[in-house]
Formats: sequence, C-alpha cells, structure tokens
Amino acid sequence: MENTNPLPPYDWPVLQAGWVWLCGAGPGDAGLLTLHGLNALRQADVIVYDALVGPDILGWANDNAELIYAGKRGGKPSAKQRDISLQLVDLAKAGKRVLRLKGGDPFVFGRGGEEAQTLIQHEIPVRIVPGISAGIGGLAYAGIPVTHRDVNQSVTFVTGHDQSGEATGSLNWQAISDGSQVLVIYMGIKHVNRIIGELLAAGRPVDEPVAVVTNATLPHQQVLESTLENVEADLIAANMAPPAIICVGKSVLMRQVLDWQGLIAGQEPRNLDPLNRGRPAEAV
Ligand code: SAH
Repeated sequence: MENTNPLPPYDWPVLQAGWVWLCGAGPGDAGLLTLHGLNALRQADVIVYDALVGPDILGWANDNAELIYAGKRGGKPSAKQRDISLQLVDLAKAGKRVLRLKGGDPFVFGRGGEEAQTLIQHEIPVRIVPGISAGIGGLAYAGIPVTHRDVNQSVTFVTGHDQSGEATGSLNWQAISDGSQVLVIYMGIKHVNRIIGELLAAGRPVDEPVAVVTNATLPHQQVLESTLENVEADLIAANMAPPAIICVGKSVLMRQVLDWQGLIAGQEPRNLDPLNRGRPAEAV
C-alpha cells in the first residue's frame, strides 16, 4: 500500500495526541510537498485542509484519517478564520493528532500566524512545517526566477487583498513601486485593474514585463506574458481565473530562455539572451 511506504531513514518527529502541526502543502504539484509534510500526513488523525490543497496530497493521508475541508476562496461562502482556529483548538483538546494543511507556505499570506497564535494562546503545542510558496515555486515552474543577478537584488511580495478582502487600500503603492525591482503579487487577479493603475500612476513604465501564472505547478498551469499596459485586456482575452501569481519586472523576460516545461515539450528557447547581456551567463 502506497500509504505505508516507509519514509527514508531519518529521525522523524512524532505527531503526538493533542498537538497541531501547521503545514504548508506547496503550490499544487504533489511532489513539492516536503518530507515533514508527508510524515505529518502519515500520522494525523484529523487533517483540516484548505481549498488549494490537491487530492493527490490528501491521498497520502493515513487511511483512517478524518479529512475536514476548511476552504476559503474569494467571494464564496467559507468557514470563518476564527472558527477554523477554534476548531483546531477543540480537536487538539479532544486528544487528536491534528494536521492543519494549507496551500503554499503557511506563513505567507496564509493566516498561519493567526492560527498558530490562537493555538498557543490556548496552550496547544504546535509545530510549523514550511512549504514552497506559490510566489517562488509557482514562478519557477513558469521559468521565472524571482531573483536574477542581472535584474534584481530584492523582491517584494504583495497581496492584492487587504484584511477586509477588498483591494489593497492600505498600501503605499508609490513607495512599493519605487522600492521594488520585482513585484510578486498574490491574490491580485480580482483587483488587477486597480493594482496596475497604482503601479502606472507611481511611474512604472507601460511596457514593463508582466507575467500571470494560474494554477502554477499543476497540469493545467497557464502562463500569460504581457506588459503593464496590456495585461488587463490580455487576461480577459485569455480567460484566465484565480488562483494566480502576478510577477512584474524584467525577470519575466528570463522565461524566454528558461521555460523549461516548454523545452521538455520540445520547443526551442525563444531567446538565449533575453536581457541582452551579450556574454555567457556565468561571465563576471
Ligand atoms: N500560503 C500560500 C498563499 C495563500 S494566498 C503560499 O505561500 O503560496 C492564496 C493565493 O496564493 C492565491 O490567490 C494565489 O495568488 C496564490 N497561489 C496559491 N497557489 C497557487 C497556484 N498553484 N498558482 C497560482 N497562484 C497560487
């Protein structure tokens, strides 16, 4: 049985009764789950999982585990954050071995910090298992490095929703724009017009490269390459829907050479030197 395959030899932590492990499942591709995540799935009595955690990963759960869906997708009715946190407290107090499984990394725009805080306030012991965040791993699957020596020495992660779920009114877009060589925007599709408008108003060039990656790392991943001025119309034309990561900056051009999934599918690189360095990549 798949579920009983041993993990590689290692001093694996034991998920004990009354504990909650708060774990990132990665951006989608089941192979991007960490081994600590798999170790947790094998042991948990109860798994409370989010919408972006796929069936392949849940299929690795202990056969007797109870699976509880706590999904939240923008605009749809969903379990309230406070209710989810208190449910975790109740399960732990009932002596369950609890796994809280979230998409990507639990501490990146995932409210993992709030859940862990509530658990600790209720004196529930926790372990945090990081995951690969969509804004890094998802872009890598599209052939976009979030940092590239010729492009950026910094990267800014931004959410398109603030606490109220509305467009991010609380951000200083001028400062973000001035200070960010590359922006990686989570939850940005719904308010893409507002976000792009803010960036253009802050002085970013209309022809700045933008990529949008939906369902990153999954078989139905879609990648749109566009520019700040065209991305909104291009998104509508391509009929792309969340979940999506938006990347703004010259790193997007690297996809012309690094679209490794395209290469595997037999395509040629479009441009071996998209940043026009005119020299081998490794030359100093
Ligand atoms: N904790 C998660 C982010 C949760 S917020 C992480 O670290 O990745 C949810 C947002 O994450 C989505 O709206 C989208 O912007 C992004 N996201 C998560 N999975 C994604 C995927 N497979 N493809 C594209 N975007 C994804």
